[in-house]
Amino acid sequence: MKTIRLRAGKERSLQRRHPWIFESAIAKGSGDSGETVRVESDSGAFLGWAAFSPTSKIRARVWSFDEAQRIDASFFVAAVAASTRARGRFDIQSDGLRLVHGESDGLPGLIVDRYGDTLVAQFLSSGAERWKDVLADALLAQTGLTKLYERSDASSRALEGLPEIKGWLRGGDANAPTDLVLREHDWQLGLSIADGHKTGFYLDQRDSRKKFADYAQRLGFQRVLNCFCYTGGFTVAALAGLQAGGFTGGHVTSIDSSGAALEQARANVALNGLDVAQTTFMDADVNASLRQFLNEGRTFDAIVLDPPKFAPTVAHAERAARAYKDINRLALKLLEPGGVLFTYSCSGGISADLFHKIVAGAGSDAGVDGFITERMGGAPDHPMTIAFPEGEYLKGLVVMRK
Ligand code: SAH
Repeated sequence: MKTIRLRAGKERSLQRRHPWIFESAIAKGSGDSGETVRVESDSGAFLGWAAFSPTSKIRARVWSFDEAQRIDASFFVAAVAASTRARGRFDIQSDGLRLVHGESDGLPGLIVDRYGDTLVAQFLSSGAERWKDVLADALLAQTGLTKLYERSDASSRALEGLPEIKGWLRGGDANAPTDLVLREHDWQLGLSIADGHKTGFYLDQRDSRKKFADYAQRLGFQRVLNCFCYTGGFTVAALAGLQAGGFTGGHVTSIDSSGAALEQARANVALNGLDVAQTTFMDADVNASLRQFLNEGRTFDAIVLDPPKFAPTVAHAERAARAYKDINRLALKLLEPGGVLFTYSCSGGISADLFHKIVAGAGSDAGVDGFITERMGGAPDHPMTIAFPEGEYLKGLVVMRK
């Protein structure tokens, strides 16, 4: 068994059960890609069993902090079982759910989403890659399913020295469908596990989409703007909410820079028996569109801002903060008094506190005040844990303009 020894003082985060060991924390020792290594403090005390990653800045990720734990197939079977059991206790109104959420489930680098009878996995660290077969078998055994599609085509794989891989890992053949339909709340949403973003869909916004539908149903928005709409989840939510509230004549404008996503979004409106005539889909840049609407004097009763990750890490936070502030300022200006803004950041590098400050700054620049009526986070199957605060990547505010 290989050992890595940390520099003095670098044991503290591990003692708090934080699983990352940065390159700069290591005094000596190494391993092969994904190999299990023993991690010791400067004084030789056991800290954890970790997967080594020779090229990544995160040089090792801890599997277990228990010295008696063996890192073998049964360890991964038990971890997958624990993760699956936890989902049984969370409130998830969908047949699409995140089964394994990396570090938060004790499996750094592994993401697994379930869409009906199909699993989609991303193996994003050397350790997850090393144990891929064991993990795949455990996932199928635990869920009783037969099909697992691999979406290890994320650019972060390069940091781990791993190639991008995409395709059926288990069960699928050439004819197995990769265009699926999931049921979320009372609606159906089509997605592509082969070509969609991440594993195909943003399951983490499930509760926010429901909240948006509830607001539409209660307040009867007439003009809705869904920015960064992807496959139209918030668009369907708005229209379904309006329908449930007995409101007619509302209109939803949805913007995204991906033509394929917009096509899926339009199909999703039709799939739910909602009226496509009540929608406009724009293949455009959100920032430019918001400026254009402002120039045209257009206003909205509800706006969703759900941009991509502007700040993957804290190092990018400052530039990202300016970008967030800019779109929020424009959106607040476009909002009617009494209108609501659902605004999000999915950047790990932007804390909830900082995001609140950014939106406050945007309001002050726009000369607009508002009531913060909700604070939102990721859905419960994208959990954060006490030991891993980085798990809180998605945060949102609902602001009702005064
Ligand atoms: N709200 C969506 C998820 C949004 S993901 C949902 O509920 O599913 C972010 C989206 O922003 C992606 O679809 C991406 O294509 C789009 N995007 C990224 N940059 C953009 C830009 N500058 N203008 C418009 N869309 C953009």
